[in-house]
Amino acid sequence: MKNITIVGASLAGTSAAKALREDGYDGHITIVGEEICRPYDRPPLSKDILVGSKTVDEIALHDLDDLDIDWKLGTPATGLDLSQRRVRTGSEEISFDGLVIATGVRARVLAGFEPDGERVLTLRSLDDALRLRACLRSGTRVLIVGNGFIGIEVATSARSLGCNVTTVGLLEPLSAAGPIVSATCARLLARDGITSTVGRRVISMDRERGTAHLDDGGVLEFDVMVVAIGSVPNVEWFAGSGLAIEDGVLCDERCSVIGGNGVVAAGDIARWPNPTFAGRSMRIEHWANAIEQGAAAARTLLHGEQAPAFASLPSFWSDHCGVRLQSVGLPLLGDRIEFTDGAIDAEKYAVASYLDGQIIGGQTYGIPRAMAHLRIRMSQELKRKQAA
Ligand SMILES: Cc1cc2nc3c(=O)[nH]c(=O)nc-3n(C[C@H](O)[C@H](O)[C@H](O)COP(=O)(O)OP(=O)(O)OC[C@H]3O[C@@H](n4cnc5c(N)ncnc54)[C@H](O)[C@@H]3O)c2cc1C
Repeated sequence: MKNITIVGASLAGTSAAKALREDGYDGHITIVGEEICRPYDRPPLSKDILVGSKTVDEIALHDLDDLDIDWKLGTPATGLDLSQRRVRTGSEEISFDGLVIATGVRARVLAGFEPDGERVLTLRSLDDALRLRACLRSGTRVLIVGNGFIGIEVATSARSLGCNVTTVGLLEPLSAAGPIVSATCARLLARDGITSTVGRRVISMDRERGTAHLDDGGVLEFDVMVVAIGSVPNVEWFAGSGLAIEDGVLCDERCSVIGGNGVVAAGDIARWPNPTFAGRSMRIEHWANAIEQGAAAARTLLHGEQAPAFASLPSFWSDHCGVRLQSVGLPLLGDRIEFTDGAIDAEKYAVASYLDGQIIGGQTYGIPRAMAHLRIRMSQELKRKQAA
């Protein structure tokens, strides 16, 4: 291959570019990115950028200058022609031998609560974060719709700036992390003075007045509303090209996209059968996965069937109320748990999760160092399985 185009100028896309160069690829690399700014890290958007503990410069992705990349930023891809092997943008057609799809996801929009950049916001990009940051002052009434990771992180960041924060969601806070974490998180939110309204949905609002109406007749007042109800994969630009789309873009175990020759995908947008969990179909929206899968996809472009399958051990972290939650593997699939460190009452603990007697994942809450032990145990288990 002499001409590789990467669409999506963020974590997975730049990780793919780095891996291409590390593996000795000396051909042309083009990166096409919708955002105008140079690539940056997204996790600080709901944390450090909102509270002002990091600057925009500090979250830029580094080590990109020596990769000899032809950057096309501020240039959304609008189409893909697989027979001609070209990516379309508004102004040109970019040819490729190999293509990396890394266009991630966007914030899901709630009908009737569309973001307007002032009163109602979502959070996915640096622009979103800077806009939100400008709204958060002591005493600002912030209503967060959605009790998931981003909603809760924004809630705690806003609270630390002195905002009056209410969250509203159908489920308990961080329910995606399981009942133990969720219950601890709920306690910490209450202790920090964040009001959580659970089991309710917003059904309408008056933007001018700043009132949101709940399905039980309740009314919540706000100055700023942040809608954080999940994400949608950015697949539209290649819809109809022949690539398989199924809640993301469908790949094989080496991240080759089904329906495309010399087309791979990585990061939040990619769905693939993860050999670590017997080929279970996964699409993972976590930082570490974007880096690892970007590199794996690049190796598949270069080495085809000789490249290893992308056998991944999912992991993530999330920060709220001054506490770090970490997770490895698939702890919620377990049928038994064991506390390996700390205690729930102390709101600091580590939990190993087992399925059929074998460790399948673990979580630490407020004890980051305990994660190393859980990771080692998971890796040993995986090696044992591979050897069997
Ligand atoms: C606020 C926030 C906090 C987070 N916190 C954590 C955390 O604490 N821990 C953790 O593990 N993970 C966290 N994540 C998740 C992590 O940031 C993502 O998993 C990671 O950014 C995924 O990288 P990606 O490159 O696949 O996708 P993205 O980072 O979404 O990048 C996709 C890029 O493609 C661009 N694009 C989209 N469509 C097109 C198009 N048609 N043409 C060209 N370019 C296009 C987008 O503009 C974007 O720049 C967080 C995410 C957010 C938003």
